[in-house]
Amino acid sequence: MKKTFIFMLTTLMYFSCTSEKKDFNYNVEQFADLGILRYQVTDWDSLSLNQKKLIYCLNEAALEGRDILFDQNNRYNLAIRRTLEAIYANYAGDKADKDYEEFVVYLKRVWFSNGIHHHYGEEKFLPGFSQEFFSQAVKNLPASVVPVRENQSIDAFIAEITPVIFDPAIYAKKVNQDSRLDVIAASANNYYGEGVNQQEVENFYNSMKDPKDNSPVPYGLNSRLVKKDGKLTEEVYKVGGLYSPAIEKIVYWLEEASKYAENVQQKKVIDLLVEYYKTGCLKKYDEYSIEWVKDTESLVDFVNGFTESYGDALGIKASWESVVNFKDLKSTKLTKIISENAQWFENHSPVAPQFKKKEVKGISAKAITATILGGDCYPATPIGINLPNSNWIRKEFGSKSVTITNITEAYDKAAAGSGFNDEFVCCSYEKELMIKYGSQTDNLHTDLHECLGHASGQLLPGVDQDALKVFGSTIEEARADLFGLYYIADPKMIELGLLDNKEAYKAEYYKYIMNGLMTQLSRIELGKEIEEAHMRNRALIARWIFDHGRKDNVIELKKENGKTVVVINDYDKMRTLVGELLAEIQRIKSEGDFERAKDLVERYAVKVDPELHKEILERYRKLNIAPYKGFVNPVYKATKDADGNIVDVKINYTEGYAEQMMRYAKEYSHLPTYND
Ligand code: ZN
Repeated sequence: MKKTFIFMLTTLMYFSCTSEKKDFNYNVEQFADLGILRYQVTDWDSLSLNQKKLIYCLNEAALEGRDILFDQNNRYNLAIRRTLEAIYANYAGDKADKDYEEFVVYLKRVWFSNGIHHHYGEEKFLPGFSQEFFSQAVKNLPASVVPVRENQSIDAFIAEITPVIFDPAIYAKKVNQDSRLDVIAASANNYYGEGVNQQEVENFYNSMKDPKDNSPVPYGLNSRLVKKDGKLTEEVYKVGGLYSPAIEKIVYWLEEASKYAENVQQKKVIDLLVEYYKTGCLKKYDEYSIEWVKDTESLVDFVNGFTESYGDALGIKASWESVVNFKDLKSTKLTKIISENAQWFENHSPVAPQFKKKEVKGISAKAITATILGGDCYPATPIGINLPNSNWIRKEFGSKSVTITNITEAYDKAAAGSGFNDEFVCCSYEKELMIKYGSQTDNLHTDLHECLGHASGQLLPGVDQDALKVFGSTIEEARADLFGLYYIADPKMIELGLLDNKEAYKAEYYKYIMNGLMTQLSRIELGKEIEEAHMRNRALIARWIFDHGRKDNVIELKKENGKTVVVINDYDKMRTLVGELLAEIQRIKSEGDFERAKDLVERYAVKVDPELHKEILERYRKLNIAPYKGFVNPVYKATKDADGNIVDVKINYTEGYAEQMMRYAKEYSHLPTYND
């Protein structure tokens, strides 16, 4: 539950452009609501050959898990993707044809979302081409490239797959959080077999939990729960289990990586991960996580595994992801200052004393340069990560928190001059602050969110960490965001040298409220509600503050020339409200107050004002900015000597989006089409 996504829909002019990066092309292409960017691996040449080899192997391991995620997102995703790719590679018809153009957009969207559901909105997106076009295109393919089931005819295949693509009612939503529904039955993901319902899942996993166990494993994290002969059973993701062909490849590359480990601790980490993949044993996973947290000395680091549970409405099952990276030493200095002062921040927060951590342990924060994005971090990626997710491990051993600086840099550079601020920001005062400090305060807020926010606070004894159920992620993200918002306005920022102007925080306050009240609506289709946990959290915070500041006129929504703008009249009072809400959200989390969490989320975080929504979409459309962004990875080429030893690893940035996706499909696709 610990990811930060970029939430500025762009903006922030970026004036300081260092000379070596001037010619780098950050924008790749744009289609539907998606923009594809490219990131640069700054300081690659500062790495030793051994570190480059290590990264090379970890990168390969990061790309090998891609098919797993497709299958986790929906049982038909691999069949659909492979069919579309076959058409893309073999199409002999007119490429200027409208149907074909729409086909290419659809395929690009499937690649982007790792399946047929929107990566952020969770709803199934529908193709713009006709069923006839699709069926004819499949029939035109050489039979050998159509991913039919065993002994299935092409006609039967088309009949099976067509409604999955075209019928809006089938697999309508990847994750359905609607608490009035059976959230398992209503979700189209593949974490649970056919016919498994929410009550059964809750009973199944509750019966595993021992309230006296102070170090529980994350039950159910790495498996699909299915019904066999009326009995529930787990199909574990491991070598020899579910997804074995992909996991075997991951293991192979991890074993290669282990040879180049920078030190004993890092080797231990990699070897434990291999053991976990081989056994599927969650105790092993916890051991691995603990050793991973302890490894703070290595320059190179990685995430690789079944990690985040946003994709499961009950937050039990984890999607596969990977990010490989190395320390950005310059930026790490700043996050280090923050984490070294963690206890001060905890002690001075507006939270009630019994909900505070007496001892905030082992928060290690660093800024990193990503070298590859894989699985659920590709092409859309978080800009900050805080792991592990296990509460007891975080409490006893701390967590590692990172911000990915070369990704935020790419966002900033690509967004320069988009016209967003001119359209949406009310006043010249705020505009100037945002130009001057927007990038800096945005990064700082992310650091505070990750290094302090998620790490702060404690549950009261006996409170179940899943007590808030479907509202848990939203409340957790709100907690971390509020902690960051509260402190970014604190004089301590100046004292620690994290900001040099006491007004600078207003850039973040303004942007946050504008985003939560208005501009994030640009990412939602008209008529839809807010679903995603981070978006819900931002709406919750912005609307709660707006509502509670009403009597003092703290924030206004004004109409100017028919355009709605946010005006903040009283920043001091706004900070007080941030503190009040933080105290309440922490209480909810600490006490496991499900009813109050439900009430807050339902009242502030879900519904959309249709008038305002329409207006934002129209204004946004005129700017022609893609609301969502993702990235192509660089290409790494290893040069080998006559004996097959790697003697150098070179990077290039020339690969296009479709080109990369087609290459990945060829080189990193080892799972069967059907994994049921
Ligand atoms: Zn977070």
